[in-house]
Amino acid sequence: MTSSPVMRAMLFRRAGSAPAMEDVATPIPGRDELLVRVRVCGVCRTDLDIVDGRLDPSRIPVIPGHQVVGDVVARGDGNDGPAVGDRVGIAWIHWACGVCRWCIAGLENLCPQFRSTGCDVNGGYAEYVTVPHAFAHAIPPELSDAEAAPLLCAGATDTVLQNRVAVPVLRRHRCSVMVSRTRSTHASPNR
Ligand SMILES: [Zn+2]
Ligand SMILES: [Zn+2]
Repeated sequence: MTSSPVMRAMLFRRAGSAPAMEDVATPIPGRDELLVRVRVCGVCRTDLDIVDGRLDPSRIPVIPGHQVVGDVVARGDGNDGPAVGDRVGIAWIHWACGVCRWCIAGLENLCPQFRSTGCDVNGGYAEYVTVPHAFAHAIPPELSDAEAAPLLCAGATDTVLQNRVAVPVLRRHRCSVMVSRTRSTHASPNR
């Protein structure tokens, strides 16, 4: 492992107060996990919901941020995912079980065991973050860090951005764009 045992991170401790920079232990990747050195992390409306108290994180303190682009610097055991040195993205879905009816249907955000980045587990407002390798997303080289980061949001940001930013950026890079939306009647306990 090439990282320091201590890293700087923005910790959220109480609704109504902004996250503050603190020194915390650098996370160690567990089995099937990656340690990622963060390049950029976007700001989502969901992060503001946490800070303002409209959304309660399941852990306090928590490091918010779920639009993460960074480089893999270490891998835990049992890992056949991205290699050290690969650039990856980390999105709102930190982990889902993969075997329930919602996961099999591709609706991992409805998984009863769903865990969200930056709310249920620590996110990207830090020098390092861990992620299960199955939920680390390859970033096409055509996209810059800042262009890729908002695309990793689950919705609160890119419902606004997808037409104004994401789709034009992807089209500029000659990517095929396919947008799917949940129905307005589709009740989602998660974002
Ligand atoms: Zn599931
Ligand atoms: Zn978001």
